[in-house]
Parts: sequence; structure tokens; C-alpha cells
Amino acid sequence: SLLAPADLFGTSRRNSTGFDISDEQTLARIRAARDVAIPDAVPLTVREPSGTAQDVTNPATGEKIATVMMADAETAARAIEDARPWDAPAAERAAVLRRAADLYEENFGPILGILAREAGKSLADAVAELREAVDFLRYYAAEGEPRAEAPRGIIGAISPWNFPLAIFTGQIAAALMAGNAVIAKPAEATPIIAAYAVRLLHQAGVPLSALQLLPGRGSVVGAALTADPRVKGVVFTGSTATAQTIARTMAANLAPGTPLIAETGGLNAMIVDSTALPEQAVRDIVNGAFRSAGQRCSALRCLYVQEDIAPHVIAMIRGAMDELVVGDPWDLATDVGPVIDAGARDDIAGYIAANGNRVIHKLEVPAQGTFVPPTMLRVGGIADLEREIFGPVLHVATFKGDKLDQVVADINARGFGLTFGLHTRIDSRVQEVSDAIHVGNIYVNRNQIGAVVGSQPFGGEGLSGTGPKAGGPRYVPRFYAPQAPAPAG
Ligand code: GLU
Repeated sequence: SLLAPADLFGTSRRNSTGFDISDEQTLARIRAARDVAIPDAVPLTVREPSGTAQDVTNPATGEKIATVMMADAETAARAIEDARPWDAPAAERAAVLRRAADLYEENFGPILGILAREAGKSLADAVAELREAVDFLRYYAAEGEPRAEAPRGIIGAISPWNFPLAIFTGQIAAALMAGNAVIAKPAEATPIIAAYAVRLLHQAGVPLSALQLLPGRGSVVGAALTADPRVKGVVFTGSTATAQTIARTMAANLAPGTPLIAETGGLNAMIVDSTALPEQAVRDIVNGAFRSAGQRCSALRCLYVQEDIAPHVIAMIRGAMDELVVGDPWDLATDVGPVIDAGARDDIAGYIAANGNRVIHKLEVPAQGTFVPPTMLRVGGIADLEREIFGPVLHVATFKGDKLDQVVADINARGFGLTFGLHTRIDSRVQEVSDAIHVGNIYVNRNQIGAVVGSQPFGGEGLSGTGPKAGGPRYVPRFYAPQAPAPAG
């Protein structure tokens, strides 16, 4: 529907406007966040948790920044036992989520500080992520407020390190807004921001029994949440392989039909035809492939450029790559920060080395910290990409003008279906290609990252996920019990 329920009910909702970093005072507060004390993370549970301590490190420097208590199996079992759906009226739940959104914004200093130091986010990416988290809270509050349906019960929420605040918060906010009890397992690399966020949600008024946090290993906490029949739904963002493991575990242990809402990987393509505006296309290619150091499931992985303009466009991409600043996330000039950890760096660097004969262009990066050089590789087509490389690696193929249909067929045949970009100035082509391509999010004459909550619902099909799309009107309804009567009116 074009009108969101919030509009129908007369409550206005606006996306967060972020922070004006040309304002000296705001900038000073952000800079000060560099030195904020980083709190340790522990499971936030109804009963006293137990587990083992583990260091949390800054990927840009390798230094230890805090510790986390990784929950043990007993703590996970007790959390499931203690979980209670949130039985406050929908209007009250919405008010609490809005209060949490305000608290997130008020505490922007520590939040940006933790995102930069725990996840290696550049300041620009950290600001964008905080805005998205705030938007999820307010959007889902507006979506759920007019509904009077019953919750499913206990929802397990398993989230990724690449959006350790925004996706983490979005999963929780939607499940809570529908009245469920949520047990959240943050990614192993990013428990600190998760614990900080959950403390704010509790402070805003979410009862502890409705929202518990279990930092821990996938094999311990993830296993508990996906194999305990008291869990009535799982929401997951992460790799396709992990989603498949979760689906198998759930199928073997939970009630038949227990929903898995999964947002997974992508091998996302962009087609640039010979009518495209090269300057605009190149800007969008470089942002799509290299922002967040390529650590977005929406990122551009495989570019198809029409043969006639390929030498020109590739030369321009090289030039634009040379302008990228790779380095300290705290430097406002930085475009590309580190990847999440040494394991990721070694995996991506190994992939680039193994494809050394295909390198068109590769940057230099700092030797210290887990940096990976932004790299452009030549390929025949998307079929040459064996798996999703979750880093700053752009693959480029060329195509002949009469082979566009074949390119679209090849992209579809690869099986992923998350984002797709098209640069063209032929109107009819926009419609034809959009009709033929099987992906969740199509972007025309712009980049293909940074979907905006409420206006660009985000999620894929095929190997890329189950839907419903996050930040869209079908998301919250998935968290209500299926047998609940439809809302009146
Ligand atoms: N929603 C994000 C975007 O549009 C990507 C989410 C992800 O990487 O999981 O860029």
C-alpha cells in the first residue's frame, strides 16, 4: 500500500536526520567519543548469567577494548524459561520504542565510539547506521501501533556484525512491537554495541523478561535458540550457509512451520549500458563496491559494462579508486576502514592472491590492522564468482549490446537475489530489465546500498533470503501468531 498505517492513523513518522558534522559542537562530541570508556558486555538475563570471558578487540588496531561474558548453555536454557511476552497494550509498546529511539539519538557519542572501535566503522558509516537503527524503532512502532493481534511467543533473534546496531535493533524492535518475548544473540565480534543498545531499550521501559541478551557462540547460544521447541520464531541475518544450518536445526526440533525470517548473502550485479552517464555510474559503482569495505550483503560484486564504453568506464573506476582514503575510521576523510577481523582479512586477501592474474587495479593499504586493499578483478561473468567475498572486491565483466538478455539470464541463474543496479537512459529498458530480474531490491541510476527504512523495504529472494523485507509494511505482521484474528477495520 502506498499509505503506511501510520499515515492512515494520523501519527506522523519521520526518518532520523542524523547529525550535522559541520556543526563544531556536534563534531566535538563525536571526536570526544574516541576516548569514551567502552563498557564490558555480559548476558542481560532475568537470572544471574554464567559463561566464559573473552576479549573484544578493535579491528583497526588489534588492541583489546573490553571483555564479554559468552553465555553458556545453562544461561541460554534459563533465559528461554524466564522469557515472557510483553503484554502491555500496543500503544504503550510503541511509546517505549519511540523513547528508545530518542535515547539512541541522545547517546550518539558513545554509540558512534563503540561502532568505530568495535566494528571498525568509518564515522560516516557509523552515523548512517545509528540513523537506520533509530528509523527501525520508530517505523516498527508506527506499523504495529494500530494492530491488536496476538504475538507468537518467544522469538530468537540472531544478528550480524556488519550492522551490529541497525540490524540488531530492527529484528528486536519488530518482534517486540508485535508483543513477543525476544532473546537476542548478537554476532560474536560485536557484543559491546549490542549490550549498550539493550541497556537503552530496558531504560526506555522494555521489561527484562521481554528482552534478554545472550552474547555467545553460535554453537552454544544459536543452537539453543534454534533447537528449543519453546521458541516460536527465528529472525536471522547472516550468511546463506548459516541460514541453511538454522533451517535444518529448526525443522528437526521446532514445531512444523515455525517461521524463519532470514536475510542472507548476495552476489549482486549492476549493468551499465552504453547510454549510461559514466561519471554517475562510476560514483555509484565505487560506493556500492567499496563503502563499508564491501561488508554489506547489498554491496555490488559483479559489474557488467557494455563493451563499447568499457575501456573508458574501467579507466574511470581506476581513477576513482585512487581517490579512496583507506585507513583510520576516526579520520573524517576515510572512505574505507578495516574489515572485521584477521580471519576475514586473510580470507579476502587469499582470494585476491589466488586471482592475481585477473587483477585490473588494487590499492595499497596500511600494514597494521585488518585492512584489505580495494581491488578490481576481471571476470567473464557472474558464473565465475564461486562464492560471496564479503569485502572490497569488485568483479568486472563486459557484454555486447545484443547480449543484454543473456546477462540478465546469467544473473538470475546464479541463484542469489538481493540487490541489482542498472545504469541506462533508455526508459523502456528500465521496465524490461526490472521485469526480468529476480531480486528483492532494484536500483536504477544510483548505487545499490543503504536502503532507507520505510521507503525502500530491504530483502531478497532465492539464496538471499525469505522475506518479508525489513523496513517495509509486511515485516511486523510476520511476528504475530498466524491464527490471530485480523484487525478490525
Ligand atoms: N540494508 C543494508 C543496505 O541496504 C544492507 C544490509 C546488510 O548488509 O545486511 O545496504
